[in-house]
Amino acid sequence: MHIETKAVHAGRDVDPSTGAVTIPLHPSTTFERGPDGSFPSGYEYIRDDNPTRHAFETAMAALEGGCAAVAFSSGMAAITAVFEARPSRGNRIVVPDDMYFGIRSLIEETDIGHRFDFVAVDMRDLGALRTAVGAAPTGLVWIETPSNPLIRVVDIRAACKIAHEAGAPAVVDNTWATPILQRPFELGADAVMHSATKYIGGHSDLMAGIVVVPEASPFERPLRMIQKHKGSVAAPFDCWLALRGLQTLPVRMRAHCDGAQKVAEALSRHPAVDSVLYPGLPHDPGHALAAAQMSGYGGMFSFVVNGGAEAAMLVAAGLKIVARATSLGGTHTLIEHRASVEGPKSLAPAGLLRISVGLEHPQDIIDDLYQALSVVK
Ligand SMILES: *Cc1c(COP(=O)(O)O)cnc(C)c1O
Repeated sequence: MHIETKAVHAGRDVDPSTGAVTIPLHPSTTFERGPDGSFPSGYEYIRDDNPTRHAFETAMAALEGGCAAVAFSSGMAAITAVFEARPSRGNRIVVPDDMYFGIRSLIEETDIGHRFDFVAVDMRDLGALRTAVGAAPTGLVWIETPSNPLIRVVDIRAACKIAHEAGAPAVVDNTWATPILQRPFELGADAVMHSATKYIGGHSDLMAGIVVVPEASPFERPLRMIQKHKGSVAAPFDCWLALRGLQTLPVRMRAHCDGAQKVAEALSRHPAVDSVLYPGLPHDPGHALAAAQMSGYGGMFSFVVNGGAEAAMLVAAGLKIVARATSLGGTHTLIEHRASVEGPKSLAPAGLLRISVGLEHPQDIIDDLYQALSVVK
């Protein structure tokens, strides 16, 4: 089956009791025992498992080409679970220096930062990665590509190989690329994580995270136990919305890529724009690698406005269609000044604006950005 067909059908059968074609939403927290005390349906209590979450997990495992999936209440809950579930004994976790900002906050502001020895490297530099995994027993290599907010592209196959040579598993945050554009299991990943809050949901109206694992994965049981006993599970309604989103994911991703390409090209011609960071542009340092590793360049990019933070804020303030909001992957085009969101430790240049290109007509987004950019001298 092609991925478009899997997106519509995986995890979903016609409901035998009603004939309903769309999957039912099961909010029930509890499921009845048989007279003999057994659970004939296989379900017992909502936190352990429930039919709607099970369908979402089954669909994601099929789409990502894994064997099982474990859904959490958010992407961050999924990431925390992966750190805690890391199967090898090494306490070091190697992360990218340009990474989703929530992970930096998790490390700096919770006990996670004390429990593990986090080392951040620029993973485009494979020598630096090799040094980091070689210097101490490493329990996990965390890969995020394309990265946030500098839109760097990391060679997943090479990074996984380096991790494996050091005896460490490699896990890919595939939130930005989705299983439609990037196939981490085919490149050696040991688990794949998503914030379903983004493209999978696709409409900015749910929060969930999920980790997909291959067959016989040492991650699977620890992740299940963390899900069940620590309790940050995905809610049935969020899983139901995610399943709805999944059906249009292949079509939406093509439209996001097409829109981002057009908007990025238009911005790269604007005199007030210093640079556009998007692997779909032929001069981008990640272009060749992304062309080999991805089937599309994604819907996210960043651009740097001449005149620093002040000019970037003015441009964002002048937009009429594009919304000034965090997050990504929805139908609305969203823009954000990352340096002010991330604070002094941000790697983002002062004039950088990150954009999540939505599903509006690309020309309307280009026109909106051009009128807003007209304030920059
Ligand atoms: C949003 C995001 C996360 C965190 O997901 P939440 O659902 O917000 O907890 C992790 N990684 C990436 C790349 C993201 O964009």
